[in-house]
Amino acid sequence: MSKSTAKKIQAIRGMNDLLPSDSPRWQFFETTVRQLMHRYGFDEIRTPIVEQTALFARSIGEVTDIVEKEMYTFDDRNGDSLTLRPEGTASCVRAAMENGLLYNQTQRLWYQGPMFRHERPQKGRYRQFHQVGVETYGFEGPDIDAEVILLSARLWRELGLLEHVTLELNSLGSTEARAAYREKLVAYFEQHHDVLDEDSKRRLTSNPLRILDSKNPAMAEMLNAAPQLMDHLDNESKEHFEQLKAMLDAANIAYVVNPRLVRGLDYYCRTVFEWTTTALGSQGTVCAGGRYDGLVEQLGGKPTPAVGFAMGIERLVLLLETLNLVPDAALGGCDVYLLPMDDNATVAALTLAEQLRSELPALRLQLHCGGGSFKSRMKKADKSSAPIAVLLGEDEMAANVVTLKFLREAREQQRVARDELAATLGELVSH
Ligand code: ATP
Ligand code: MG
Repeated sequence: MSKSTAKKIQAIRGMNDLLPSDSPRWQFFETTVRQLMHRYGFDEIRTPIVEQTALFARSIGEVTDIVEKEMYTFDDRNGDSLTLRPEGTASCVRAAMENGLLYNQTQRLWYQGPMFRHERPQKGRYRQFHQVGVETYGFEGPDIDAEVILLSARLWRELGLLEHVTLELNSLGSTEARAAYREKLVAYFEQHHDVLDEDSKRRLTSNPLRILDSKNPAMAEMLNAAPQLMDHLDNESKEHFEQLKAMLDAANIAYVVNPRLVRGLDYYCRTVFEWTTTALGSQGTVCAGGRYDGLVEQLGGKPTPAVGFAMGIERLVLLLETLNLVPDAALGGCDVYLLPMDDNATVAALTLAEQLRSELPALRLQLHCGGGSFKSRMKKADKSSAPIAVLLGEDEMAANVVTLKFLREAREQQRVARDELAATLGELVSH
């Protein structure tokens, strides 16, 4: 088959390329996150993208959407069942246990990276997507719940998003309290069996709490009248929740208690929370988390209290873009286009570029490469986003000077001696 008729291979549905025009927004978000984690004393952890399937089945729960229908699972060449990670918490617990990070110590960890779920792709929902998450281990009291929520709130503030998101809170209580509540809830749903949709009927035996999450308007009235977990909390969980709310009040963080917030994963207990926005249509949850005190033990470790959250980077970048919140300075580009006027100046330009990069480490300098006529070189300079072109030709080399041309303003070009160039550029390009 000749090249021109070969069928082009395309990316996998729901898995996106991050193009140069997108990456400045991602970098703005990632840089802000990285600095924030550093300031809060959280350490980064990186785990493999592939894990044994059993890790997710055992932690997330067999009857959750993720494990039932969203995982990318395949057999390795030697027959082991492996899965592309659908989320970060299980991997983080596994890694922390395996490397002794939970032994007689507390941990505040964060991670970032791609996750994989076989969902129907749509705006804000993809098959490869990216999360930033935090996980803390060894803290029992509500202070750490408040601390991770405050960390997320500060991130919104620094990104300019705080006024566009809402914090929703709930408590799922202890495992025992939840089990007792579950029975009451199932009895209530059975009384209203005729109103339940197919999904809910299926969940009635497997995961009845998730029915509370349903957005089906036909069930709204029945769900509103359902018994509330909040009224069945054990005393300790109630106290924990009251203290957390008092801490958020003291820190001036607004929240809404949503008694129907249950989260889709099995491992949560006590505190659960979500940050939501109305600016993204139905994919409105940008960050979700809570307490999962039982998970470490469930995966074979010692009982270890744990709190964490994960945020979806695609949705946050989309939100930043929709609201036009990325500062111009973060949007990339360069300050100076250094242009050898003909091929005789190539080597001199190359060395000058390197010298300037040493002298002015903050300078963003693009060197013209690829030759061409003077006219086409100037066109490239114009196409670059640089406001200044530094020209180097035969005359300039002989006199040990350069010519500065201002590309975005009506201003006379200017000759500058080589030994004054760094100082001049430093003044012209102030960041
Ligand atoms: P949803 O209800 O939107 O399906 P979820 O409960 O499955 O979310 P979590 O497992 O809690 O989501 O993941 C945390 C965050 O990761 C979500 O709030 C969302 O911002 C993001 N996220 C989850 N799934 C996807 C996806 N398929 N594509 C893009 N972002 C996602
Ligand atoms: Mg989901």
